[in-house]
Amino acid sequence: MSTGATVWRALAGSERGLRRMLQYWAATALLYLASIGMVEWQVLNGFSELEGMRRLELFGIGGLIVFYFMVRFSAVLRLTPEVLTVTQALYAIGCGMWAYSIGGPVRSGIMPMTVMVVAFCMFALRPRQTLLLTAAALTGMGSTMWWLQAHDPLRFPPAVEAITFGYLAAALLSTALLTGEMSKLRAKLKRRKKELERALETIRLLATRDELTSLANRRHMNEVLAEEERRHPHGAGTCVALLDIDFFKQVNDRHGHAAGDAVLRSFAATTRGALRSHDVLARWGGEEFLLLLPDTCPSDARLVLERMAERVHAMRVPGLEADRRISFSAGLAERRHGEAFADAINRADKALYRAKEAGRDRIEMA
Ligand code: GH3
Ligand code: MG
Ligand code: MG
Repeated sequence: MSTGATVWRALAGSERGLRRMLQYWAATALLYLASIGMVEWQVLNGFSELEGMRRLELFGIGGLIVFYFMVRFSAVLRLTPEVLTVTQALYAIGCGMWAYSIGGPVRSGIMPMTVMVVAFCMFALRPRQTLLLTAAALTGMGSTMWWLQAHDPLRFPPAVEAITFGYLAAALLSTALLTGEMSKLRAKLKRRKKELERALETIRLLATRDELTSLANRRHMNEVLAEEERRHPHGAGTCVALLDIDFFKQVNDRHGHAAGDAVLRSFAATTRGALRSHDVLARWGGEEFLLLLPDTCPSDARLVLERMAERVHAMRVPGLEADRRISFSAGLAERRHGEAFADAINRADKALYRAKEAGRDRIEMA
């Protein structure tokens, strides 16, 4: 990792949620810096006293630094996004009140900033919380204005303060309502996204899994084979096997279709346990299964099939007599150099036929 990347990782962390919160913090920092620029301009024009404004600037920058650490280490400090947002918003409102009281004739310019504070919160707060924050902003700014006009009515004429407060209240309340609507919309979109993700997952499962056995279905297996052919067009060293449960019709006839289904489910669960992670077993049709064994020589493939057969012999199926032994016959083929899987499967099918002819419960090589 480069030095720049290491520094960036240390500053912003690696978690996505944290990075997003720090991005919001950075946006707030820009707003603070812009405000400091405006404050300097006010001082340059003689609208505000230098000393008072410098104290306010330091207060703002100090708060920004503290908030960076609060956000960066919010997990350790157990601070939720809501708590962080409300704390920063109240701090910003406090800065606004201070700036208003020493802003001189251009103090009304602070008002849009207060509105911005509420607008910022729509990403983290619920509509009710935004309304409460708006009430806090109005109370804070309102009491500042009231106090100023009561103590210095010449510089802060009561009528001017009252009208300014009216405009602020209208702007803040409408912003709060709008952000409330936005929050509702965002929550709805989030819900829809979750629903869509779940629906997509279900569709994916339906399209690729066999409903009864939860194995890959024939359609998906064909895709897997096509992909394998694409990746290894001339590839050899892969085996395929067709497996067919012996005398399965008898199970259905003697014990009913439900017992037959139970055999298929048990067969799938039992044989799956004998496979490696990259082997694929699919329900090819009825009581017939296709096994794909990539990077496997025929002797190893035979061992895999023998292991599967052992497990199937030992399996107990609910609804069947305890001594009822289930077995399968299999035809095994190694894919030849440049051979299409369809041809290898054909050869495996012929070998399976021979296994049945020879008395079942056995593995025949193509
Ligand atoms: P063999 O040893 O020659 O393979 O004989 P078999 O009885 O297993 O083969 P056959 O092809 O005669 O019978 C297969 C039966 O599998 C016929 C069909 O009704 C049954 N079958 C196919 N799909 C299902 C299923 O999903 N559930 C159940 N219970 N039976 C099924
Ligand atoms: Mg059969
Ligand atoms: Mg069959």
